[in-house]
Amino acid sequence: MARVNQGQGMLIEVNNLKTYFFLDEGTVRAVDGVTFDIKRGQTLGVVGESGCGKSVTGQSILRIVPHPGRIVEGSILLHRYKGNGASETETVVDLTKLDPMGDEIRSIRGAEIALIFQEPMTSFSPVHTIGNQIMEAILLHQDVTKDEAREIAIDMLRHCGLPRADDVINRYPWELSGGMRQRAMIAMALSCRPSLLIADEPTTALDVTTEAQILTLMQGLQEEMGMAIMYITHNLGVIAEMAEEVIVMYLGKVVERADVDSLFYDPKHPYTRALLRSIPKIGRRSRVRLDTIEGMVPDPYNIPPGCTFHPRCRSFMPGICNVIEPQMVDAGGGHLVSCHLYDGKGK
Ligand code: SF4
Repeated sequence: MARVNQGQGMLIEVNNLKTYFFLDEGTVRAVDGVTFDIKRGQTLGVVGESGCGKSVTGQSILRIVPHPGRIVEGSILLHRYKGNGASETETVVDLTKLDPMGDEIRSIRGAEIALIFQEPMTSFSPVHTIGNQIMEAILLHQDVTKDEAREIAIDMLRHCGLPRADDVINRYPWELSGGMRQRAMIAMALSCRPSLLIADEPTTALDVTTEAQILTLMQGLQEEMGMAIMYITHNLGVIAEMAEEVIVMYLGKVVERADVDSLFYDPKHPYTRALLRSIPKIGRRSRVRLDTIEGMVPDPYNIPPGCTFHPRCRSFMPGICNVIEPQMVDAGGGHLVSCHLYDGKGK
């Protein structure tokens, strides 16, 4: 497979995205004004606790937000490139403007933007072979014959580290181990060579050895294919391994964005610092207790005023943090943070 060098052009720009769920109990602002971008070939880590809106952000890009959720504001610009080098042309489509059931988003989903997630059994049908399902995805998006689709599927399975790919292609999903199924799902997702892979906790259900193998595999395939990855996880260890840029989400908002080294060595937001204190470190005495983040994630129907993290924050400043909502500011060198410790209000 030839290596792809796509440069660092823009791929996805998410601007002030708001995706709300309208329930009988009230409105849940799952994604509440999120802004970020991903460049071609880049890996963006999206990190936060359960319910912080990271998966719904991925679903919003693919326009698969489940009912009763919907995008209520903002834009998601997908930059598309055709041709090579000097003859390359760029067009931009706003995914929020597309009919989620329409032909255009269907042609983008699976082909230009693909998804892998925690449980492959939910993306594979148990009654069809792995091969038939991968071939169906290829035939849907590429102008190839059935035989060619079969060859592409076998080649992709082989690339994803499945031994005896020409045998695996005839297997049903339930005949494979968890790690093999995950590899097969990655093969299906990458069979159309997407420009963006959204990986939503893809290794959470796997043992650490298989997880390490899958992460190495994804890095290798990314280098070969030049795709960008949006890696969604609660696991900071995986983020450190995979991501170049990281956004930290809390209650539907991005609270910090930085390159991976700045985030780990110089975290700014008290929530990010608390997340980092809560992970085990090699060499730390086993009897030293890990920090936990104080308090609970607030009730989604009853979001605190001001900074939504203030009831749990060790640096809470009364009269400021519980009153004024912080905005994103540059804390230096493009390290963005949304906290009054950095916007002058706390001094
Ligand atoms: Fe803590 Fe205040 Fe910063 Fe919020 S704005 S994270 S409460 S210091």
